[in-house]
Amino acid sequence: MELENLKDASDKASFAQAVKKGLGKHQGLYFPTNIQPIDNIDALLEMPLVARSQLIIKHLIGDELASELVDSMIAQAFNFDAPLVKVTDNIYCLELFHGPTLAFKDFGGRFMAQCLSHISKGEKVTILTATSGDTGAAVAHAFHGIENIDVVILFPKGKISPLQEKLFTTLGDNIHTLAVNGDFDACQQLVKTAFDDAQVRDGMHLNSANSINISRLLAQVCYYFEAVAQLPEDDRQKAVFAVPSGNFGNLTAGIIAKILGLPIKRFIAATNLNDTVPRYLVTGEWAPKATIATMSNAMDVSQPNNWPRIEALIEKGLFDKTLLSGEAIDEDYTQVAMRKLQTLGYVSEPHAAISYRALTKSLQANEVGIFLGTAHPAKFRETVENVLGQPIQLPKALVDVAGKASLAGEIDADYASLKSYLFETLGD
Ligand SMILES: *Cc1c(COP(=O)(O)O)cnc(C)c1O
Repeated sequence: MELENLKDASDKASFAQAVKKGLGKHQGLYFPTNIQPIDNIDALLEMPLVARSQLIIKHLIGDELASELVDSMIAQAFNFDAPLVKVTDNIYCLELFHGPTLAFKDFGGRFMAQCLSHISKGEKVTILTATSGDTGAAVAHAFHGIENIDVVILFPKGKISPLQEKLFTTLGDNIHTLAVNGDFDACQQLVKTAFDDAQVRDGMHLNSANSINISRLLAQVCYYFEAVAQLPEDDRQKAVFAVPSGNFGNLTAGIIAKILGLPIKRFIAATNLNDTVPRYLVTGEWAPKATIATMSNAMDVSQPNNWPRIEALIEKGLFDKTLLSGEAIDEDYTQVAMRKLQTLGYVSEPHAAISYRALTKSLQANEVGIFLGTAHPAKFRETVENVLGQPIQLPKALVDVAGKASLAGEIDADYASLKSYLFETLGD
């Protein structure tokens, strides 16, 4: 697989190099120089998730990694289901939250862990990442127990729900967690400063494992095929996907699936009040505003870092931009949508509810709508219970961690504290 830096096409990388480096020169994103359609999609749709995903990933990566290696990486990463649940006659939810940390980020996080542990074999790597919730948990679980890789996760103290925090602070071993006295931006700033510090970056072989890593994106392509495969055969040419979007990795993966030949009629980019993309799709003007805190906090992003990849697919003529519309849903309508789903017998959480709402606003009679369930409702228990007035049962993964003690350390939001922590904890 050949990738190029979207900010400097002369900066090329193999899949392995792009996984290791994350970003290219000038903070540019790596993206495949070419995406060839897959032959015989119908046969692919008859296969089970793991076998089908192995073929898709091998098609994308090419012969750079041995076939048996990719097979085993996918089998280990995708060890949970993605059921398509019928909500009304023509609307389904693709539930992506049945992995170990109950959010769709398990797909990308687990595949990335497999890739990185293979690609950096024998070499020590330190993953340093800041989280406001779902990413930290997915990355921590995915890398837990993997040899030669240490993970350091920074999170804003007291600003993540206690259960969400327990999902990644109770693991121990090679997973190191730090509560930072500051907000999420302060955590992210500390990570950036560490990446600018050559002594730390090169000495500890830092990798950020964030959503711009190409391996995470490729893994996510696979569940769009899984959704269409579960549709009744007559409906497979009618699928419209509504994607609850923050950094737009999820939507980018969906568009790649369509370019590979998966029959998807069109996409709806659903956002909360952080509506940079829906506004851009109407006005053609890229005008991010200050980020607004909402109930769907995993989508509180006003400068989505994967958008240049979608733009590149449009510019290269691989994706017709008229097949993408945007829809921003405010806080009131998020709640309206959650209650509407409740009356249909489907308990959901704010992120998925936003995509459901966006779908119902434009779905036509000859279309079948699929909205993506990106997190388990129990992950947003307080919000869901407040809006729906009904108790939410905790799934086993959350019950298991609820009673465990947090192993997180604590630091002030200054770089000297982080640096001395890194050397004390990970130095030889
Ligand atoms: C990360 C996340 C999103 C946003 O996904 P992107 O790929 O960043 O657009 C949506 N919902 C939930 C629950 C998430 O954790």
